[in-house]
Amino acid sequence: MELMFTGTGDGRGIPSIGCKCERCKLARKEGGKNRRRTVSFIVKNQTDTIIFDSPSSIGVVLNEHRIFHISAIFLSHKHFDHVGGITAFEYWPVKIPVYGNMSVLGNFEITDRLYENCEFHVLHDRKSVKVGHIKVTPFQVSHKVPTFGLVFREAEKRVVHFSDKAGSELSDYEKRLVKTADVTIFHAPRYEGGKDHIDVLGVIGIAKKYPSTRFVISHIGHNNLLHDDLVEKIAPFENIIVSYDGMVVKL
Ligand SMILES: [Zn+2]
Ligand SMILES: [Zn+2]
Ligand SMILES: [Zn+2]
Repeated sequence: MELMFTGTGDGRGIPSIGCKCERCKLARKEGGKNRRRTVSFIVKNQTDTIIFDSPSSIGVVLNEHRIFHISAIFLSHKHFDHVGGITAFEYWPVKIPVYGNMSVLGNFEITDRLYENCEFHVLHDRKSVKVGHIKVTPFQVSHKVPTFGLVFREAEKRVVHFSDKAGSELSDYEKRLVKTADVTIFHAPRYEGGKDHIDVLGVIGIAKKYPSTRFVISHIGHNNLLHDDLVEKIAPFENIIVSYDGMVVKL
């Protein structure tokens, strides 16, 4: 499996519109790894391509990465930074299966064109869906609204993607997932002081307990540290990676 971190910013993205903070100014001026689109993630193997969340930038992402085949789209929850670009698929040339909970599927207007181009499927907690050779299992995570994280499994490889998750407490089920995962992804907009989302300090606390799992931090906000500063700060924790737009992890 190949994991593509196509957007690694929080709901505002960086630079954030209307913001003149030093980090946004630098991102505007220099771009590079300090510039982050709203969050999107793609899992690929030789035959299948799965899109996880569809922010407003999804069209640009698909064009930039030359993606012409999509096997399925999964939506984690109804927050607009995760689903605001779904209407881009009104124009996709073939019908795509779209999976999400009732809260997300019932929350955006399914236009006639979108309905014709997408097959909508309701996800249920811990009920797996097969996409080619990749098994995708949703699991409920605590957030402001009903939210599913996803486990992607192919052969013996496992990726656990929490999407937006509040706090750093893990349920017993989540602990087992993290322990057996090759890669675990958390959304940490802030370095510390996260409320509706885990923060970087929370990820560090978890990563220390599971040294054989690699952790990736994504959904990073303009209040967090600059990319290089964040990388330096977590350097002592060798199993944590700070993502950036365009980063690819191969398993
Ligand atoms: Zn979000
Ligand atoms: Zn800013
Ligand atoms: Zn959210």
